[in-house]
Parts: sequence; C-alpha cells; structure tokens
Amino acid sequence: MDDIDAGAVDAIVCWHVDRLTRSPRELEDVIDLADKRGIELATVTGEIDLGTPTGRLIARMLGAAARHEAEHKAERQKRQRRQNAEAGKVSGGGLRPYGYADDRITVIEEEAAIIREAARRALAGESLSSICRDFEQRDVRTPADRHWIPTTLRRLLASARISGRREHTPRSTSETTRPLLGEIVAEAVWPAIITAVDSDRLRALLNDPARDYRRQSATGRTYLLSGILRCGRCGHRMNGRPRTGVPRYVCPNVPGSGSCGGIATNTARTDDHVRDMLLTALDSPTLAQRIRSQTGDDHNLAELVRADEEQLEELAEAWATREISRKEWMAARAPIDLRLEKNRAELAGLSRHSPLITFIGTAEQMLNRWKAMNVSQQRAIVAATVRTISVAPANPRKRWDPDRFTFDWIA
Ligand SMILES: [Zn+2]
Repeated sequence: MDDIDAGAVDAIVCWHVDRLTRSPRELEDVIDLADKRGIELATVTGEIDLGTPTGRLIARMLGAAARHEAEHKAERQKRQRRQNAEAGKVSGGGLRPYGYADDRITVIEEEAAIIREAARRALAGESLSSICRDFEQRDVRTPADRHWIPTTLRRLLASARISGRREHTPRSTSETTRPLLGEIVAEAVWPAIITAVDSDRLRALLNDPARDYRRQSATGRTYLLSGILRCGRCGHRMNGRPRTGVPRYVCPNVPGSGSCGGIATNTARTDDHVRDMLLTALDSPTLAQRIRSQTGDDHNLAELVRADEEQLEELAEAWATREISRKEWMAARAPIDLRLEKNRAELAGLSRHSPLITFIGTAEQMLNRWKAMNVSQQRAIVAATVRTISVAPANPRKRWDPDRFTFDWIA
C-alpha cells in the first residue's frame, strides 16, 4: 500500500478480489488509492476496472461475498466443534471431564492445578498408586465424587484432552475396554491445562508396556527394592517381606515358580547401601552431562512427534476438503505413521530416565532430595539407574557384607 502511494507500483495482479484484502474496509483503502494514483487491477478470475463505478461495485460485491463466506464458515466451524465436543460427553458416560466445567470448555482452576501436579509427579517417575494415595489423604475427588485410583488417573493423564487436543478413538465391538490412546485429530476448542510436549511424554510413558503402573505390594507398603533385587542363587525377583517384625527382602520360595527361597537380606541396611552406591554413581560429571544432553534429545524428539502429528492433521484436512484423494491421503500418511511410531517408542524409552533430570546435583543436594522423597519416588530414581541388583548368598562369618551386591547399571 505504501508502494502504491509512493507511485512505485502501478498495477496489482491477484487471484481474486477476495484474496486481495481481508475486509471491505481494506478494499475501500485500495479503491481510494486507485482513485488517487490510477492503478490497474488485474485478477486471474477476471478484469476489474477500479476506475469505473461498475468496476468498483463488482469489487465491493465480491469482497462482501467473500467476507460473508468467511464469517459464515467460522461460525459453522465453531458450531461443529462444539457439537463434536459435546458428542464426547455422551460417550464419556455423561460426566464432565476432570479439569473442565459442565460446558467442557471452561477450565476449573483448582482441578487444573491438581492435573498439573499429577503430571509433574508422574513424569518424575512417581507411581500412579503413590500419587493416588496422596490424593486420597488430601480428599481430592474425581468428577464422579470418588477417590482416584491408578486406572482412572492413568486415563486422565494419558488423555490428549488436557493438552487442548482432541483425539479420536475408533470404536471396536470386539474390545470391551477403550484403548488408552486414540489418534490426535485436532487442536480443540477447549484450552490446554498441560503442554503438548508434556502430554506426549506422559502418553509415551503411560502406554509403555515395560512400566507396570499397578505395581504395589499386597499390604500396600512399598519396598524400595522389591523386584529390583535378584536372588544370586536362582535369579528370581526378591520381594519385601516383614518377618518376625524385621523387614527383609527374600527370594520367595513359591512352588512351581523355580524360586529357591534360599536368600534373604535385611531391608533397612540394603536400602541404605543401595542408596549410597547410587548417589556415588550419580555424583559424576560425565553422567550429569549425559543426562543433560538427554533432556535435549527428549525435547527434540517430542517436537518431532508434534510436527508429524500436525502433518497428519493437515493431510486429513486436505482429504476432508477434497484437495487430495483418499488413496493419496493413505499413501502420504504411511511413511509419517512409521516415523511417528518409531519416535514415540524412543520417547517412551527416554522418559524412563527422566526422573534423574531433576534429581542430579551435588552429593549433598542429591542426599537431601532423596530424603525428601517418598518410597515410590525413590524407586523411580533406582529404576532409572540400575536394571537389577544381584544378591549373593550371605557369608556366615560376616554380619553385614556389602560385597554380596552386584549392580547392573544402566549405561
Ligand atoms: Zn532364589
């Protein structure tokens, strides 16, 4: 516009008048300038002479029609989106989603804070049972006015909804339970409570078959090293067990399981020893460096996953508006699906190490952080650092022998 006014431009070529300006008001500016400077306007769809009253009338009519169409389209989309959002209400069993009011759009701040807290703790490796127990003590309740249990919390945290994205879960008659993850199909009309990057990490983490989110001992008490310690004689997992008042880890002697039942170790002393070994191992500059660079990878990977999801979304739109055929759509999405699957799997792998990201520091800092953690949070640190710890048979001449423990460190 400045160039036209300065006389540097003497003709405008555009596709259609409705592509030239975004509003009738802008069109009037063009008409005024055309009057003043006598510019030519050529459109691919036909010549319009802004110098004549008829030409201007046509330009205004076309502009007004385009404007009307745009407004109409926006209104239609808004209504459609709301309808879709409300359709989810029926399939969701009639209850509002946690974090949002009955209109399914307005955020309830108090609940949003709970969602952010749960997401942060789960990403730091705390078990869902541990978070649920804490919520129960604080009397945090679900929209159904019940206490949170790991399965409901898992669904909440894995839902794309809380990151302001809509997902489509195809219905299948053969499956009785809904799959945890659907396909993310669109940005939603409701606001996000957590970021898309955090949501992607949570989805990868909670959908990871390697993670048993239900792990919890029958007594409700969590032992730091249950399932991590391995019997040095038979290789079976050792479990925490109170025996004559003194908690011990034992090889469980379960008939038919191949466990020998021949090895036990004092829980408190073992926990302390493992903690000391862990903090020593983590107190190394090379390890800290590696974890920091991994955080970067984690973030980049999450961005790649986002970009691919966006591309799939664009393709779906292109198909919906008939820019491409169904066949072209399927062909274009195949390589993206493959890459997406690979990156999601890798992201899940990285997320297993994520508890260390906020834990690493000086020896003193780490010890203080460790002391401030509950057993479930500590377990996440252990699981991110060692695969297993093998316990050799006790030396009858020694009361306590740290050499019985062999650590299988994760790289
Ligand atoms: Zn054994």
